[in-house]
Amino acid sequence: MSRDIEALDSNDPLAALRTEFLLPANTIYLDGNSLGPMPRAAAERARTTVEQQWAMDLIASWNSHGWIDLPVTAGEKIAPLIGAGPGQLICCDSISVNLFKLLAVALQLRPGRHVILSQQDNFPTDLYMGQGLSRLLGQARCELRVVEESALQSALTDEVAVLLLSQVNFRDGSVHDMASLTAHAHEQGALVIWDLAHSAGVLPLAVDDWQVDFALGCGYKFLNGGPGAPAFVYANKRHHGQFQQPLQGWMGHQAPFDFSPEYHAASGMASFLTGTPPILSLAVLDEALNLFAGISMQQIREKSLALSDLFIELLQEYPALESLQLRSPRQESRRGSQLAFAHPEAYAICQALIAEAVIADFRSPDLLRFGFSPLVLRYRDIEESVKVLDRIMASEMFLAAQFQKRQKVT
Ligand SMILES: *Cc1c(COP(=O)(O)O)cnc(C)c1O
Repeated sequence: MSRDIEALDSNDPLAALRTEFLLPANTIYLDGNSLGPMPRAAAERARTTVEQQWAMDLIASWNSHGWIDLPVTAGEKIAPLIGAGPGQLICCDSISVNLFKLLAVALQLRPGRHVILSQQDNFPTDLYMGQGLSRLLGQARCELRVVEESALQSALTDEVAVLLLSQVNFRDGSVHDMASLTAHAHEQGALVIWDLAHSAGVLPLAVDDWQVDFALGCGYKFLNGGPGAPAFVYANKRHHGQFQQPLQGWMGHQAPFDFSPEYHAASGMASFLTGTPPILSLAVLDEALNLFAGISMQQIREKSLALSDLFIELLQEYPALESLQLRSPRQESRRGSQLAFAHPEAYAICQALIAEAVIADFRSPDLLRFGFSPLVLRYRDIEESVKVLDRIMASEMFLAAQFQKRQKVT
């Protein structure tokens, strides 16, 4: 099949955004779903924050450079990306820590119910946090119940306080229908917490319209906030003032600088704060989010699907690539911005790809995963990466000993 890849790139309405990022030359980055690439402005902002604000203005910067407001400032920039009105997002801590807060809050809001319902193949930290809370509160007050995806609907009994799901499955990229599962949970009297780690910044979402109760997501994946960037928390306005999150630290107090011995929660999202925010990380995330101003999530989604469709189509043209089994849904509406392929040598193939400057990742036990960041990738990168993959598979170079050794981070 002949395709005009050049035309795809020259007609790409998002093409200019690539120049906003600093990327290594001759490298194709298919891992923006794990760690987003670095916006040039982020480096500048880090430098300003350290050299001018911290070094020169010292502690006055908390007020004069708005450090103290950064959790809210950055949160409000994420709000439109997930379809949230103002006053419902804040950036702080990690997904794991924020999930602990949200699970406790959800149990408080459903006092007669004790089950957290989740999915067997949810991202493990989500399950671990549920297990930890259950140990703390005891099974009678908090039981994590984990079922297969197909059993979710029937498992929504009147014992379930909260349904906890990741919208995009981190392994195969399959997508839940958030609107309908949220509505179904509500019909059964349960609340929902959506983990949007692989959704925010790449899928059009409408958390307010879908009546989502709570959501959270990563700053460092498709939002490009940098390694270890703070996460975000969303709590729908209708629940504000009805709960008290348990990690009540001084930053979530209504008047932290009164230094009162009694905790009185701040109103609204500020009560989700615990300790002092990591300003360097937060400033970089805040800067990275500016790249989303003026582009629609619909545009991003269209390009994300076009890139991944092209990858699948090109793959089918190479006989050496037949052994890679697509594990992501073929249907566009059912997948996020990543593709997973099963192969017994997936780890070694991934290492060989990295050696050839195509950065993908591996997920145990046998998945080769490719993420598609619509802000930086060109259609020609897709074409090139499939050619490299073909070369690796046809030559079987991945069998070399150097590609078999497991690294600490995969
Ligand atoms: C990446 C990811 C996380 C990471 O959680 P942190 O606590 O921020 O490290 C959580 N959930 C999902 C679904 C993820 O993909």
